[in-house]
Amino acid sequence: HERTLTLQRYPARKNETLQAWDAADEYIINHVQDMELDPQRPILIMNDSFGALGCWFAEKGKVTSITDSYIAKQGCVANLKANQLPHIKITDCLAALPENPQLVLLKLPKNNRLLVWQLKRLCNLLPEDCVVIGAAKAKEIHTSTLKLFEKHLGETKTSLAVKKARLIFCQPNPKLAAPMPAPQQWDVPEHNMTITNHANVFSSDSLDIGARLLLEHIPQNDHLKDIIDLGCGNGVIGLKAARLNPQAKITCVDESYMAVSSCQANAELNLETPEQITAKVNNCLDQFPAKSVDLVLCNPPFHQQTAITDHIAWQMFCDSKQVLRSKGQLIVIGNRHLGYDGKLKRLFGNVSVIAQNNKFVVYKTVK
Ligand code: SAM
Repeated sequence: HERTLTLQRYPARKNETLQAWDAADEYIINHVQDMELDPQRPILIMNDSFGALGCWFAEKGKVTSITDSYIAKQGCVANLKANQLPHIKITDCLAALPENPQLVLLKLPKNNRLLVWQLKRLCNLLPEDCVVIGAAKAKEIHTSTLKLFEKHLGETKTSLAVKKARLIFCQPNPKLAAPMPAPQQWDVPEHNMTITNHANVFSSDSLDIGARLLLEHIPQNDHLKDIIDLGCGNGVIGLKAARLNPQAKITCVDESYMAVSSCQANAELNLETPEQITAKVNNCLDQFPAKSVDLVLCNPPFHQQTAITDHIAWQMFCDSKQVLRSKGQLIVIGNRHLGYDGKLKRLFGNVSVIAQNNKFVVYKTVK
């Protein structure tokens, strides 16, 4: 191509080894290059990683990028700016979709529940003449994935693999349209909670086994005034902290819009005063005031999109240190083999084990 884009992951890091786009993005771009597009009809981009597709198609007309990830959104905004491209509309995946799109470019999400939810939404929206192109690494496209497209959207074919990526072509069939399912809901009887979960929320069909252990070890103390549940998912940890510490203000933070929306719903379902919890979409604790919090509770993620990495956990620990008041505590649960204790010791100069089982360890560190 004549065009070159400069793309970075978000947040940008020194000596980054991971790429901000993949062969599936390139495959989509090459394929769509020769298509005639109507400048009046919307193009939908779904689950763009860091804005590779958003940037490439920014000048092609009415583009809306739909994502569940605040980080993906920030990445797209930063890359549009760095490449001096016009801003495109970026909406969270629970927001209303534009009517009558001509083209949908769908990067397969990691989570099949989200895929099904998105396919069902598309089936309710798309006109029959809309071109739908899915894309992913070939190894992520299984026969079962294609069956999901067939079942929830329409007749489906795939391309040959190029650089280990494949495209999926699906012909929308409005006859398959069905009402959207309600979010998953289950009880945690031992903590007297009912938890509701949108499609992309971590561990959305049962309580995470790590969270189960952490729930038993949340401090209760009248001196705790400000508590953060960092990487809150459905908010189960924050809810328990709120019940144990009714005097405290709880802030639940996640980079997934669906997580934050579920967390808000769960505060309303489970707390007499749901205002005790504020749920917020954010990248870790970016922009949170320093020395403003007594306790951070954290069950960190160990991947970013499809890349396995502990850099987000590290950022969460560094940010926690910033926002904690003197003598404030960070309590972290992690899989034993992740070795969070070394990181916490390096950062805070102390770490202790407050609980463990054969798989998980709960660490405490004090500022
Ligand atoms: N606290 C919930 C629990 O225990 O069930 C969820 C824990 S899950 C292991 C980690 C959470 O961190 C996910 O909900 C994920 O969306 C969120 N997350 C990932 N990267 C993040 C970031 N940069 N900033 C804030 N949250 C993030």
